[in-house]
Amino acid sequence: MPGTIRKAGVVGAGGAGFPTHVKALAKAEIVISNGAECEPLLHKDKELMKRHAPLLVEGLETMMAATGAKKGVLAVKAKYRDVVAACEKAIQGRPSLSVFQLGDFYPAGDEYTLVYEVTGKLIPPAGLPLQVGAVVDNVETLINVALAKKQPVTDTYLTVTGAVHKPVTLKLPIGTSVAEAIGFAGGAKVSLFGVLESAMMGRVMDPAEPVTKTTGGLIILPVDHSLLRKKTASAQRISRIGKSACDQCSFCTEFCPRYLLGYAIEPHKVMRSLGFSDSNRKPLSEWALLCCECSLCSLYACPEDLDPKNVCVGAKASLREQGMDWKKSSLAGGKAPSVHPMLPFRKVPIDRLTRKLGLWDYRAEAPLDETARHVKSVAIPLKQGLGVPAQACVAAGQKVAKGDLIASVPEGKLGAAVHASIDGTVKSVDSRVLIEAP
Ligand code: SF4
Ligand code: SF4
Repeated sequence: MPGTIRKAGVVGAGGAGFPTHVKALAKAEIVISNGAECEPLLHKDKELMKRHAPLLVEGLETMMAATGAKKGVLAVKAKYRDVVAACEKAIQGRPSLSVFQLGDFYPAGDEYTLVYEVTGKLIPPAGLPLQVGAVVDNVETLINVALAKKQPVTDTYLTVTGAVHKPVTLKLPIGTSVAEAIGFAGGAKVSLFGVLESAMMGRVMDPAEPVTKTTGGLIILPVDHSLLRKKTASAQRISRIGKSACDQCSFCTEFCPRYLLGYAIEPHKVMRSLGFSDSNRKPLSEWALLCCECSLCSLYACPEDLDPKNVCVGAKASLREQGMDWKKSSLAGGKAPSVHPMLPFRKVPIDRLTRKLGLWDYRAEAPLDETARHVKSVAIPLKQGLGVPAQACVAAGQKVAKGDLIASVPEGKLGAAVHASIDGTVKSVDSRVLIEAP
């Protein structure tokens, strides 16, 4: 089965795009379907679980068979009663499967948090779920696993929401432009807007960019929205203001989900390190090494509206440049993580987070619409996840059909195969394969 998953080009659809066939080669005790979807305004996983629970279960059982796992868990937010019911119905008569009902907090979908919630086990610092016997796969990933024996990954599911006329969850050919996706959601309600991949962990996207296997959402916001302003601030500005305005209150640390799980991460100390450098130099602090970049410190906790997350990102980059990683860190030899007693009381409810982010008025259902969409062209990136870029096996002028292999990864290399997402003619090949429909 890992071979079939590899051939189909399945990658983790909910995060960095880790090739799924590699996870399928591992040995595990439990496979967890990650349906936490804790990013405000996004509904893709919820909608998929509601509509395609049997397919999701098939994908979960395929991964269990591949990894030898005896247990499979569908993690779903308890507040979605209809989704819980759909999942419970789909697992009927399957004693090795169960539904785990999650609270409505951020970041419930972070692998460290999810594994702890479901199994009570803590992943070792800088480690992987597999080290505690778990494999975690996103909902869409498992659906792609179930489909792999029939078809490769050619489409992606995403919620298009925010300042659009018709918030919706779409199934689109990979490589469709962000601008076209916004058009399928009725178009933007404002003339000047910016696009976020997601509110907390997502980056700002250009309307000309293509959607990929890992795109889970597009949030359209007026160009002067505070989230867009914050996400486009320069590293130099973040560092300069952080250095002068941080009062070391330590709220960023007190709310940090990794700190609360007991890991050696303290963003206020990373902020303090700004005082040891001028505004052009990068911060340097080992207390950033275990940051998962969830943004809770920057977008929720800090009363001064500073950006400790990006200071941590800068600190990790400068430590990497100097050859430092967690294993070499002076913090690595400390005591094993032990959960902070305040963890249950410091989980950030999604509603409160949504208000704080200025997104309250954009809440919408965004129901799933799987109507096949005609797009004039697609620009399919050769790299859509972790590992090396796939190597194109098509050339300009060549005719392709949806599902044809257009790029593959050499044997022994980490990466994922890429397939044509529409019928058409290859117009160009560089870091993307541009295909035009007839
Ligand atoms: S919460 Fe803000 S002000 Fe307080 S220590 Fe962290 S960065 Fe500084
Ligand atoms: S982004 Fe902030 S809150 Fe999140 S893990 Fe990093 S330091 Fe902690």
